[in-house]
Amino acid sequence: MFENSNLHLEVFVKESLQYLNEENRRKTFKKWVFTKKEVCNADKMAEAGFIYTGTKQEPDSVKCFFCAKPLDGWEATDDPWKEHLSHAPNCSFAKLQQQQDNITMETFLDLREELLYRTMDIYMDALRDYAEKAGKAMFKDICRILDK
Ligand SMILES: [Zn+2]
Repeated sequence: MFENSNLHLEVFVKESLQYLNEENRRKTFKKWVFTKKEVCNADKMAEAGFIYTGTKQEPDSVKCFFCAKPLDGWEATDDPWKEHLSHAPNCSFAKLQQQQDNITMETFLDLREELLYRTMDIYMDALRDYAEKAGKAMFKDICRILDK
């Protein structure tokens, strides 16, 4: 029914869960505006839950893999964890304030579960969108049939 690949549940879930892994987040920072010497470096950004979403116009755009909060306008001296928490105080990941290696298995599983629920919400929204568009198209078809 849903040929549009954006609506494949498997793709949705895999894409969402892949960024629970810090290394996968780090890989998105191929280009970053600051060097390793700065506080606000790519490794710290990935550690603090961000994935790179930058463009030519906005080379320092990122978003949180967990709460989806988009942020830009970074300064070299910004602490990614602090910025994350101050802009997204309800983000369960931002509240951790620690590296992946220091997270217990229990915490990791809790995060994973919350992320899955978030992903399901986004998926349901996409399905609703799809159904709405399909409904409008169907309505047009019915009108066309009745006009004949
Ligand atoms: Zn977040």
